[in-house]
Amino acid sequence: MNSIYYLDNNATTAVAPEVVEAMMPYFQCEWGNPSSAYYFGHHLGKEIDQARVKVAAMINCSPRELIFTSCGTESDNTAIFSALETTGKKHIVTSAVEHSAITKQMDFLKAKGYEVTFIPVESDGTLNPASVESAICPETAIVSLMYANNETGVIFPITEVSKICKKHGVLFHSDAVQAAGKLKIDVKELGVDFLSLSAHKIHAPKGIGALYVRNRTPFQPYIIGGHQERQRRAGTENVPYIVGFGKAAELCLASLEEENTRVRSLRDRLEEGILSQIPYTRLNGNKLLRIPNTSNISFEYIESEAILMMFDQLGICASSGSACTTGSVGASHVLSAMGLSPMQARGSVRFSLSRYTTDKDIDVVLEHLPSIINKLRAMSPLNEAHPDNV
Ligand code: PLP
Repeated sequence: MNSIYYLDNNATTAVAPEVVEAMMPYFQCEWGNPSSAYYFGHHLGKEIDQARVKVAAMINCSPRELIFTSCGTESDNTAIFSALETTGKKHIVTSAVEHSAITKQMDFLKAKGYEVTFIPVESDGTLNPASVESAICPETAIVSLMYANNETGVIFPITEVSKICKKHGVLFHSDAVQAAGKLKIDVKELGVDFLSLSAHKIHAPKGIGALYVRNRTPFQPYIIGGHQERQRRAGTENVPYIVGFGKAAELCLASLEEENTRVRSLRDRLEEGILSQIPYTRLNGNKLLRIPNTSNISFEYIESEAILMMFDQLGICASSGSACTTGSVGASHVLSAMGLSPMQARGSVRFSLSRYTTDKDIDVVLEHLPSIINKLRAMSPLNEAHPDNV
């Protein structure tokens, strides 16, 4: 394969070699079922417990408060489902910029007769906690807000909102899928009742996630069957992936600060290079209240899909927003909610870095992007509206 310059780490990340190494024995030799009565199976329960301790350390919770799931989407769906079941209430508060793991569940629930309030965001993607307070009513079962946005990286005021939820006796869930590995997460400081994680965003494989459920929070399982996960999530445990998730969490925690400093400076170099070299560009999202790896930039008078196709020919991987909506027509719901015009939103590219991003990745983008944009602007039908095109 030709060289790949991978700048799409909010979509998924490379599995760390240490994670692969930690997982291998559980495919090759230790492939028993942890629920079996004999040693070859049941001793694997200890490996699961050790992994649970490592993932718990990443968010400062007790291991007993963590349930392994199949992905971030399942964790999100479970938290909402559980709150509706245990409270018997019919109203949910969430934001206008959540991942489809939440928004599509809201569509489903609305069709079933539930009520959903979508809190708007400011033009820089930030959210005012007061707007959450005014949306809460006696029928509210749960407030669900992402910790960091997958498209812009903007961070939401989770601690402030959790205080509001406590004051009103409402459960609070945060989708921290994009925050994990990029921010220090302390669920005790955050004060959330539920928090979702996904392993493939932190250099572990796809297909494994976790849901934090605060001690003594009423809980109704979403997947019902066997007794696994202390009867909170049925299904034979995916031992290799759980072990991999534990290893990835351990690696993340060990290097969080130094990696974030390095990644932030690479991201800033990329961003400043683009914004200073290429006219009619703008940064989407609050510059400071952002996770350190994400940059979302609009290139006016161009469709981002055209940029991404030209990137692809050079081996550069970036994205036009959430990977889950790629291929769907129309502007990103996140950027639209921030008030971008359809043209600005459709011309936006998300660059997302990781601990494996190098100077070379940034250099290649900065070398090729100005000429790509020039070429596309010269060809674009949108160019009719270009202010320089007189
Ligand atoms: N929540 C957010 C904010 C995400 O970015 C993603 C994935 O991109 C998910 C949830 C879904 O996670 P998973 O792919 O593990 O289902």
